[in-house]
Amino acid sequence: MTSAASNGSPRFWLRCALCGQPAESPVSNFCGACGGMLTVDYDAGPMIDPARRGMWRYAPALPVERPDEALTLGEGATPLVRSRAIADRLGLPNLYFKIEGANPTGSYKDRIAAVGLSRMRELGVTGWAATSSGNAGAALAAYGARAGMQGTLFTLETAPRAKLSQILAYGPRAVAIRDLGRDPTVEKNTFRVVGELARSRGWALQITAHAFNPIGMEGVRTISFELAEELGRLPDCVYVPTGGGGLLSAIHKGFEEWRDRMMPVGAPAARMVCVQAEGCEPINLAWRERREMRPIPTCTTKISGIQLTAPPDGDLALAAMRGSNGWGTSVSDAETYAAQRMLAREEGLFCEPASAT
Ligand SMILES: [Zn+2]
Repeated sequence: MTSAASNGSPRFWLRCALCGQPAESPVSNFCGACGGMLTVDYDAGPMIDPARRGMWRYAPALPVERPDEALTLGEGATPLVRSRAIADRLGLPNLYFKIEGANPTGSYKDRIAAVGLSRMRELGVTGWAATSSGNAGAALAAYGARAGMQGTLFTLETAPRAKLSQILAYGPRAVAIRDLGRDPTVEKNTFRVVGELARSRGWALQITAHAFNPIGMEGVRTISFELAEELGRLPDCVYVPTGGGGLLSAIHKGFEEWRDRMMPVGAPAARMVCVQAEGCEPINLAWRERREMRPIPTCTTKISGIQLTAPPDGDLALAAMRGSNGWGTSVSDAETYAAQRMLAREEGLFCEPASAT
């Protein structure tokens, strides 16, 4: 059994989400028995450590053995800002924005990098490899630098310049892949090659998807814990910008754990709303057609960060939407840019286009 604890009994463990077998090793990315996706389970202990700040307030519910030694740059505890103008216009008195741009490198990916690399470092891993269109690369490069771990990042040829210069400043090796994010074959091959490279070198595979990085993705659940604690309940609906599907499914997992362990029996679920770009909406297509997720042949949206034709966590996202009585909605690029302007001019909030969806 792959487990970890400071007091002798396992506090968390990795098992296969398909066949239930325990993971072969604490650094495994896939099930050794069936190749399935791994998932993290926890014992029934507390979820909060009130002595800690930021995301690590939830250290008892994170898959790290020694939170005192965890990598931190001040991630988490991001602002929850109440809407003024847009809420008035829509007649939604309780509309909020979660400002994940307030994380150290500017996105929620910091939560993943902090947990994933903290765990890998305490297991003795000395390098990492990942793919990223920008935000995950910046997060991994920053926390990797903090950890003293060598990083190799495969990125999109079209990645935003400002993001690339931020990434390169932290010093990882970076490789640009042509047509990554536009062609499902290139996407699948890139994920495969990066996985093989990481395995052969003994590096941590840090692609920000449950399908590849079940440990790191646990960090995303702290978004749900923060929302639940600050609101004193679960939100009715959460709109999640969705590319790979991992953000949406991790937020759902966090809400469900909070509901099971911290709320009265019968408390309502938070409805998960999957927001995709019309030019790249494989998850919402599957939702509308009531079927499993299938890759789409091409991506036409210009919105960076959500350009995935073969979302690795697409089926997990669909399960979260269906399991929470949620739904899918897709928006055009023009609507997205208009929303980005509206958020800036009417709410004082500047976000990247993917967040504006
Ligand atoms: Zn299995």
